[in-house]
Amino acid sequence: MPSRPRFERQGRRDRRRPSALTVAKRYLVTGGAGFIGSHLCQRLLEQGNQVICLDDFTTGSPLNIAHLLDHPNFCLVEHDVIQPLPALEVEAIFNLACPASPVHYQRDPVRTIRTSVLGALHALELAQHLGAPVLQASTSEVYGDPAMHPQTELYWGNVNPIGLRACYDEGKRCAEAIFFDYHRQYGIEIKVGRIFNTYGPHMHPADGRVVSNFLVQALQNQPITVFGQGTQTRSFCYVEDLVEALLRLMATEAGVCGPINLGNPEEFTILELVQLIREITGSGSELIFLPLPQDDPRQRRPDISLARQFLAWEPSTRLREGLILTAAYFEEILRRSRTELKASRSELLLDNPALVGRGL
Ligand code: NAD
Ligand code: UDP
Repeated sequence: MPSRPRFERQGRRDRRRPSALTVAKRYLVTGGAGFIGSHLCQRLLEQGNQVICLDDFTTGSPLNIAHLLDHPNFCLVEHDVIQPLPALEVEAIFNLACPASPVHYQRDPVRTIRTSVLGALHALELAQHLGAPVLQASTSEVYGDPAMHPQTELYWGNVNPIGLRACYDEGKRCAEAIFFDYHRQYGIEIKVGRIFNTYGPHMHPADGRVVSNFLVQALQNQPITVFGQGTQTRSFCYVEDLVEALLRLMATEAGVCGPINLGNPEEFTILELVQLIREITGSGSELIFLPLPQDDPRQRRPDISLARQFLAWEPSTRLREGLILTAAYFEEILRRSRTELKASRSELLLDNPALVGRGL
C-alpha cells in the first residue's frame, strides 16, 4: 500500500488558512521570470510582499517581468539553480525553476535533471539555513502514463525511467524524495504541489506545449499539429487559478506537506481542445496528424479532493474562458512581433539602400 500523503495535524479548524498571505513577507521565487513564476511574483507583490525573483532565463523571458522591474518591492537576481543559491534573506521560498515543456526539457536532458535535482537541493539548503518554509513546484508527470484514473496523491505512478521524458519526470520524482528526506531528517517545513497542465498569458509563443502551439497556429491560420490520433486527454488549469492554489498551499500550517494535486479536474481530449480553439479564434486552420511522442501519457485528470479539503480551493475558470484570455494575449504578442519585424525591415532597408528592390 502506498504511504499516505503527509497531513500531520488533521484538526478541522487548523487545516486551512486564508488564501491571502495576510502578513507581508519577503519571498524568493526561483523560476520567477517563467510563465507561472511571473504571475506568482505579480500576485505576491499585489498582496504587499517583497519578492526576489531568481532566474537564469533558460526558458523564462525578461518580458514576463518587465512590468515588475520598477516595483520598489521587486528584485531580480540572475542565477542558475544548478549552483548553490546566494544567501538571500527571505522568509519563504517557492521553487519553480525548471523547464516544463517537453520540447525544452528534452533539448538538454542532462541539464534538466541537474536543474530539477540540484535546484531542489539548493532551495532546501537555503530553507534550512533560514529556517524558512519551501514549496516545490512538482508535477503530474510524477504519475507518468497513469494506470489509475483520475490520479490521486496515493498513486505511485507509471514512469519509464530510461525514456525521453525521464529527465523531467524522474528529476521531479527525485526532487520530491529530497524534499521529504529534508523534512524527515532536518524538520524543514516543506510544501509539495503536483501541478497539472497549466496555461495562460506569459506562455512563450514557441513554448511547444499544446495550448500555446494550437493557439499560435490557429491565430496564424497555420496547420494545427495533432500528435497521435488526438484521443489522449489532459485537464487544463488557468494560470490565475493555479497561482491561487500555490499561495494557499504556502499559507497552510507547518504540518501540511502534501503532496497535493493542483489542477483543473475537467478533462478534454486533444481533439476537443482543437475544436474549442478553432471556434474561439474563428480559425480555418486544417489539422495535420504527426506521430505521438514516446511515452506520451494517454490520459490525465487530477483528483483534487485534498486541495478542496486542505486549501478550500478549486479552479473557477472554465477552459473556454481561459482560452479566450490566452488567445487575446497571443494575438497581442503576434501583432507586436509583426510590427517589430516591419520596423527592423525598414531599418535594414534604410541602412542598406542596396537591398531596396531585391524583394526584401
Ligand atoms: P517555464 O519554462 O515558463 O518557467 C521555468 C522558469 O525556470 C524559467 O523562467 C526558466 O528560465 C527558469 N529556469 C530554468 N532552469 C533554470 C536554472 N537552472 N536556474 C534558474 N532558473 C531556471 O515553465 P512553467 O510552466 O512556468 O513552470 C514552472 C514550474 O512549474 C516548473 O518547475 C515546472 O516543472 C512546474 N510545472 C509546470 C506545469 C505547467 O503546466 N506549466 C505543470 C507541472 C509542473
Ligand atoms: N500535443 C499535440 N500537439 C502539439 C503539442 C502537444 O497534439 O503541438 C499533445 C501531446 O502529444 C500531449 C498533449 O498534447 O498528448 C499535451 O502536451 P504538452 O506538451 O502540452 O504537455 P504534456 O505532454 O507534458 O502533458
